[in-house]
Amino acid sequence: MARKYEVVVIGAGPVGATALAMLGHAGISAIGIERETEPWPFARAVHFDGEILRLLQSIGLADKVFAHCRPMCDFRMVDQADETLIAHVTGQLGAQAWPDQVLFHQPNIEPVLRAEIERLPSVELRIGTQMLEFSQDSDGVNCVIETPDGATEVITGRWLLACDGATSSIRRQLGVQTEKLGSDDPWLIVDGILHDSAGIPGDMVFIGHYTRPALWVRLPGERVRMEFKVMPGDDPEEIVTPEGIARLSSGILNVDKFVPDRVAIYTFRARLAEQWRIGNIFLAGDAAHLAPPLFGQGLCAGMRDIVNLVWKLRLVARGLADNSLLDTYESERKEHARYWVSQAANMARLLQTTDPEVAKGRDDHIRANPTESLPPRPPLGPGLHDGGHDKRAGVLSEQPTLDDGRRLDDLVGHRFLVATAPDLLAGLTRDLTARIAASPEVVVISDPAIVGPLLASSGAGAVCVRPDRYVLGAADDAAALEALLNKVPTLAPTAASV
Ligand SMILES: Cc1cc2nc3c(=O)[nH]c(=O)nc-3n(C[C@H](O)[C@H](O)[C@H](O)COP(=O)(O)OP(=O)(O)OC[C@H]3O[C@@H](n4cnc5c(N)ncnc54)[C@H](O)[C@@H]3O)c2cc1C
Repeated sequence: MARKYEVVVIGAGPVGATALAMLGHAGISAIGIERETEPWPFARAVHFDGEILRLLQSIGLADKVFAHCRPMCDFRMVDQADETLIAHVTGQLGAQAWPDQVLFHQPNIEPVLRAEIERLPSVELRIGTQMLEFSQDSDGVNCVIETPDGATEVITGRWLLACDGATSSIRRQLGVQTEKLGSDDPWLIVDGILHDSAGIPGDMVFIGHYTRPALWVRLPGERVRMEFKVMPGDDPEEIVTPEGIARLSSGILNVDKFVPDRVAIYTFRARLAEQWRIGNIFLAGDAAHLAPPLFGQGLCAGMRDIVNLVWKLRLVARGLADNSLLDTYESERKEHARYWVSQAANMARLLQTTDPEVAKGRDDHIRANPTESLPPRPPLGPGLHDGGHDKRAGVLSEQPTLDDGRRLDDLVGHRFLVATAPDLLAGLTRDLTARIAASPEVVVISDPAIVGPLLASSGAGAVCVRPDRYVLGAADDAAALEALLNKVPTLAPTAASV
């Protein structure tokens, strides 16, 4: 049966909207279905890391998004006595050629994604439209949707992306269970506008008071966010009142300095869906994973899901890779997401302790190990890369900034990058050299002025970087590079005849 769209995306929160924009840039026909008529007007996420700006760079949106961001240059943590435990002050560009951490007001970001979807001819977004039910067979998916006038319609696609959020009805209907990786904890979120100097050093401050754990964040413009652990004995109806907020924020940011414009209690959860691919359906974003927002990684993880999946969908849709490539979405992304969900859950447990002894142990540990404030970046789970036996592979590559100010990815686009020393390139067989020359999916760069820093950071004579900027593998001689490049789906000897 011919399906109308290659991809149906259910949900156009930030993850579904990113999926549509990326699918549009990949030239894949896709439709998005979103039941709300406007993006959610209130901020949840406030933080991206440099990898997310880099992935937005791949679709030409990084500068537009960055215009709404404030680099996070000063991260702190204080103890019960407000003594500084961590003061991590940066300001340099990071390894992704963007600041390592940025802060933003989410309602400023989603319109950038929506505008991009409108601009792209192969994708469309239908708002005020709800998916009611779906089915799938071996060829694709059928979705029954309810249009804004109450009529029902069936839309068909080869694949379905479930970007329908934490309560994903698609995940539930598929019977996919979630693994619980931490406790469920209610926190009060207070967003507001400063009208006086905050008087607090730092862009983000973890307030390790065991009497009331809290977080303070300085957002762009005059915006601030505070988060307070909801304690046993709190009256949930009282703590959201102006009096309640005045009481909780006293000593951190007194209410005479800001005007709250959003107050809500969220329950922070740590969950991982047990399956991410079910036939032609892929779970992504909060539908697949939920992390307490202490490292600000929930949405980052959702956007990584999309960048990991879209290049694979594109190659399979164009007949350039086998359908089994799509299995690597779950195997690679699930373990990566597990790492951040677990780290955030552990951090949540430590940060929000109300036990003075545990807080003291935590603070003593931090004093003794002041550089441990951010965990190292995890590798992908097993999949299409050599990470199982080579630590240089399966990890996010660095992005050098070139002498002329351009960033490396701008030369690479959506292709595989072969960054190599000239002598390794010269040692490849004629057959492989011909296949590389014939493939529009691969770019080879051997100019040391361009790829020297990338090779130096990888400690290799050559690296192959996938379209999602993760390292497929590294090589130290021509024979190893030959073997590595034969793993690129579009260069595999059998793919040459497709
Ligand atoms: C207080 C808080 C702070 C956070 N801070 C950060 C942070 O700093 N950094 C970070 O990276 N992450 C952060 N997160 C996490 C981040 O907000 C989420 O991971 C992210 O918003 C999830 O996006 P999503 O698109 O997957 O889901 P959602 O934004 O929930 O979008 C799902 C969409 O699907 C639609 N939908 C659902 N069902 C249907 C249907 N049947 N038919 C049609 N449409 C449907 C919904 O209307 C909705 O628009 C934070 C979360 C919270 C709660």
